[in-house]
Amino acid sequence: MRMGLLALAALCIAVTPAAAQAPAQKPEAPVEKWTGKTVLFIGAHADDDALSHGTLAMLQAHGNQVYILTLTTGNVGTQDPRLSRLQLAEIRRQEELAALKDLGINAEHYINLGYDDGMLEFEDRKAVVENLVYWIRKLRPDVLFAWDPGKVYQRWHKADHRAAAYLAADAARAAMWRLLFEGQISQQGLKEFTIPEYMFYNDYDFQDENLWVDIGAFVDQRVNAGSHYISQFGPGWKNYNPNPGEEEMKAMKALVRESIRTRDGKPVEGFRYYCGLPDAIGK
Ligand SMILES: [Zn+2]
Repeated sequence: MRMGLLALAALCIAVTPAAAQAPAQKPEAPVEKWTGKTVLFIGAHADDDALSHGTLAMLQAHGNQVYILTLTTGNVGTQDPRLSRLQLAEIRRQEELAALKDLGINAEHYINLGYDDGMLEFEDRKAVVENLVYWIRKLRPDVLFAWDPGKVYQRWHKADHRAAAYLAADAARAAMWRLLFEGQISQQGLKEFTIPEYMFYNDYDFQDENLWVDIGAFVDQRVNAGSHYISQFGPGWKNYNPNPGEEEMKAMKALVRESIRTRDGKPVEGFRYYCGLPDAIGK
């Protein structure tokens, strides 16, 4: 059933802008107080969630159910000539599971759709959207985290991130329509579903952000989790070492710590919060 506007309005508040622009929104309760919600994070690669690790650790600690869905296996992004696609996919999976463990997120809450790294925008879009719609209808998230497809203008992201931003938004929209992918409803026991709230993340050009989560109490968890991506950044990108020494791990942790943004002196993660029907995600 299509969620009514009144039901959505109870979840967020419109903030009147100073200039003539669409009203910004903020959640009725601050993210720091959220509890009992189902949260679905959609990313292209194992480590896309690293930008939001403090927030995800907080949500998990506060009694929310956090699921991480990664579209690709991450089987391409290395400069180490010794690694095969198969090896890299397995390394990326283990790194992601180790990171999620540090965030308190169970391995059963990690979903990988198995697409090839770097080629997401050349996949059959209908099949990928159908796959995502399946998980949205199955998990019925209260909140979707996704790459920000942009608000006023189309945002340019590097390849897979660009595809993931649009695929997640398209899937959020398709999931609410009973007659789209109706086999999931008539044959697989699922029901159409409208996601009410969104937290869009981004890795550069933060001008659309309207919500900053104070991750002060979760910085160490973010640092520990991020330090597991040894094949993705740091020296392991060019020369992968499955058993890094103490010094290497210290350097990895320092890199993650340096990547944390601050606002008014506090460590934060920033998002574009949106609440409403998926048709207006970009408005
Ligand atoms: Zn990525």
